[in-house]
Amino acid sequence: MQFKELSRYFEVIESTSSRLEMTKILAELLGKTDEKNIKKIVFLCQGKIGANYEKTESGLGEKMIIEAIAKSTGFTKKEIEKKFREQGDLGLVAEEFCSKKKQSALFSSELTVEKVFSNLIKISKVEGTGSRDLKLKLMAELLNSASGTESKFIARIPLENLRLGIGDPTIMDALAANLLEEGKQKKDWIEKIEKEMKEKKIKEKIWKEEFERRLKLKLREKIEEKYNIYSDLGSIAEILKQKGLAGLKEIKITAGIPIRPTLAERLNSAEEIIKKIGKCAVEAKYDGFRLQCHKNGKKIWIYSRQSENMTEMFPDIMKAMQEQIKAEKVIIEGEAIAFNESTEEFLPFQMTIQRKRKYRIEDKTKEFPLKLFVFDVMLIEEENLMEKPFIERRKKLKELIKKGKTIALTKAIETDKTKKLDEFFDESISKGLEGIIAKDLNARYIAGARKFAWIKLKKSYKGELTDSVDGVIIGYYTGKGKRTEFGLGALLTGVYSKKEDLFKSVAKIGTGLTEKNLSEMEKLLKKISSKKKPARVESELKPDFWVEPKHVIEIRADEITRSPIHLAAKKEGKGLALRFPRMISIRSDKKPEEATTEEELEKMFKKQTK
Ligand code: AMP
Repeated sequence: MQFKELSRYFEVIESTSSRLEMTKILAELLGKTDEKNIKKIVFLCQGKIGANYEKTESGLGEKMIIEAIAKSTGFTKKEIEKKFREQGDLGLVAEEFCSKKKQSALFSSELTVEKVFSNLIKISKVEGTGSRDLKLKLMAELLNSASGTESKFIARIPLENLRLGIGDPTIMDALAANLLEEGKQKKDWIEKIEKEMKEKKIKEKIWKEEFERRLKLKLREKIEEKYNIYSDLGSIAEILKQKGLAGLKEIKITAGIPIRPTLAERLNSAEEIIKKIGKCAVEAKYDGFRLQCHKNGKKIWIYSRQSENMTEMFPDIMKAMQEQIKAEKVIIEGEAIAFNESTEEFLPFQMTIQRKRKYRIEDKTKEFPLKLFVFDVMLIEEENLMEKPFIERRKKLKELIKKGKTIALTKAIETDKTKKLDEFFDESISKGLEGIIAKDLNARYIAGARKFAWIKLKKSYKGELTDSVDGVIIGYYTGKGKRTEFGLGALLTGVYSKKEDLFKSVAKIGTGLTEKNLSEMEKLLKKISSKKKPARVESELKPDFWVEPKHVIEIRADEITRSPIHLAAKKEGKGLALRFPRMISIRSDKKPEEATTEEELEKMFKKQTK
């Protein structure tokens, strides 16, 4: 495929403000893409040149891209830098300069998707002496042949910021839409859908439309099931292109490829938990970070909760995976926390978090050794354990681990008595832990969802909402008075609507932001800001700048109220809003789609009004 054609699609997608429309255009694009290119294009739509979990950093910063633009257009770096300061988006800057190139492009040729991709891969791979020059040369070569529009996207890709506003759910919807005709051949699905529709007395007039909508949802569900256990949407799209729906069967849980994590529901008391799931396992809730550790022989992979590859950061855990795990092939999950072996004390999160770093790894490994408290196992040798009940997985997990200093099982009891659960909770708190997580003994491992398989109970905060809300930043205000220095005065945040794949406004936050926060945040947001509302955002408040829903922050508030200004879980003209919201931290470990959902917020609201 010509890169020109892809850029045309990207251009239309970028200017679309409706998610439905965006899905349609994307379906058209993916529909006409051939087998050779589909994986690449899906990755590009995700803003990357590899699967989500793969490290594909280009090593090209803004400065080098400016240099490459200068090199390929004949304009000076100064001129380009000036424009960049005004525009704030290197894509637009590249578009402008490349469309009025001073020098005639001597070796320019029509760019194909393959060519662009192959240069970008080379850029991300070269290292060592001379790599800077080579990276520059490869980038300049692309810009040299690119038209204005093409260069806009080429310049943005290495910064992993394509600004298309496409989320994974939209890509899955588009893939599902393209399988519609094949779905119509599935007799059992059709019968079920038609039966449901008859029961709901769906009118003749909208029958076809509603039928197709439901069938697409079913198809999307099938795709998502696979994506949940195999975090590579590009490969899934490729197999669908090659083999259609039947291809999905070939996608299996694999050591090395992350599984999307199970999520915890919340309840407010031991009584509510026992009432909901009966006899359960109750585990200490450690306040560290979640790691999914994979092993296949000598090879180890360690993934964050967001499925980023963090293997190199944790040499102590890598070593322990070899020494303490009694199997060749496994996928296990646990919470890593800095731990003082001699005093048996858990260290606060601020110390644990120091282990998430790219430099001086060895020093910090000595200073803050981690302990990995494992709580689940999904694969042992060739056996997929995800469908097995929790109680069986826990038994296998116990047998899997040799005694040692780094990996240990989470502390747990089994009970159906609220008194015992409360005692265990108090004991955990007194040890400096966050609370407990109760686990349904019969639940399978539910990848990527929150379904009462796990229920968390945390310390409550008097006079405040018991739990914090994870909001997604959707815009910001430049602020008045002293705050204007930082270019940022308040944040507009939203919660996630899973059903609609949209982010809906819930709070405007002016407090909780320190001066340091403010200026760091401004830098972060400026890169993804725009005057146009992103397609997946819904808000009646209009901030000074909109931002792509990307960053999650933890918010505390006094209560949830109904308000005509906000749009989350809107009923009778009023949405849900947070009263006196304040920012606690940036949750860089969460994706926007993992923020608090509209449905959860509604549950929290109901609980509070009870
Ligand atoms: P939250 O992030 O508040 O929704 O709580 C869920 C998180 O608690 C999980 O994602 C884990 O990172 C963490 N966690 C700590 N201890 C445990 C445990 N014993 N079992 C499961 N998750 C745990």
